[in-house]
Amino acid sequence: PQDEDTVEPSEWERYGVDTSTPHSARVYDHWLGGKTNFPPDRAMAEAIEEAVPSVREMAKANRAFQGRAVRHLAREHGIRQFLDLGTGIPTSPNTHEIAESVSPGTRVVYVDNDPIVLAHARALMVSTPGSRTTYIHADLREPEKLFADPALTSTLDLTRPVGLLMIAVLMLIADEDDPWGRVAALRDALPAGSCLALTTPTQDFDPEAVGRVAAAARAGGMTLVPRGHDEVLRFFDGWELVEPGLTPVLAWRPDGEPPADPRAAYYWGGVAIKR
Ligand code: SAH
Repeated sequence: PQDEDTVEPSEWERYGVDTSTPHSARVYDHWLGGKTNFPPDRAMAEAIEEAVPSVREMAKANRAFQGRAVRHLAREHGIRQFLDLGTGIPTSPNTHEIAESVSPGTRVVYVDNDPIVLAHARALMVSTPGSRTTYIHADLREPEKLFADPALTSTLDLTRPVGLLMIAVLMLIADEDDPWGRVAALRDALPAGSCLALTTPTQDFDPEAVGRVAAAARAGGMTLVPRGHDEVLRFFDGWELVEPGLTPVLAWRPDGEPPADPRAAYYWGGVAIKR
């Protein structure tokens, strides 16, 4: 389906989309002004917005980091292929649009495990002549399976550096599910010269407000784990952070003037290289 306004809920159910409980991709889509969201998603989005009124600005700050990080990897580190884990509902500019603006011919593999993203991805992620994008419906918690997927191996050359993107996704993986081990397995599957760009929300800048967000998520049955600086730093074990290191997303290589208050968006962000 292209336009969910014309799609009956029963039709989404055929895609395996459960519209009766809030889902992260659709909550986030609502903040970004998208249309792929349902009443339970909007209720959750609004509950979180009550705790953190600037959450829409933060979502945009997170996307803007993604744009700067992808351009940096393409320009400064020669990355010509990206693996974007936890893609989300397509929102422009997407990774392939950013990368191709620097370097036509870039290859991008998008991965998400939400059927609603799958339903959109087919329609929206179109390659330009000479470049290629692929979408894989998979769980990033199963790196072995992902790296064995022919759609991945036919698109990415795993003997050459890959830009691994994990933008606002690890908060959806609980500690018990070992997100650190998953990131390490992904790192081990990539060759030297590969890069990681990662963001994840944090309670460090406003513990009280973010505590209320986490509580709202829990009450709605959604996993959303904000993480502290040192926990986020551990995701970069075995990688070498590039300047300026792990920073609030707003402070990471800003375009133009640095923001007055870099801690206004409650996300840590960093980019690193595998040596
Ligand atoms: N990276 C985008 C979207 C973030 S929303 C951005 O920052 O703008 C997080 C996305 O991660 C959602 O679409 C959700 O479906 C996906 N996701 C959550 N857990 C996942 C998992 N285990 N495997 C793959 N994708 C996952």
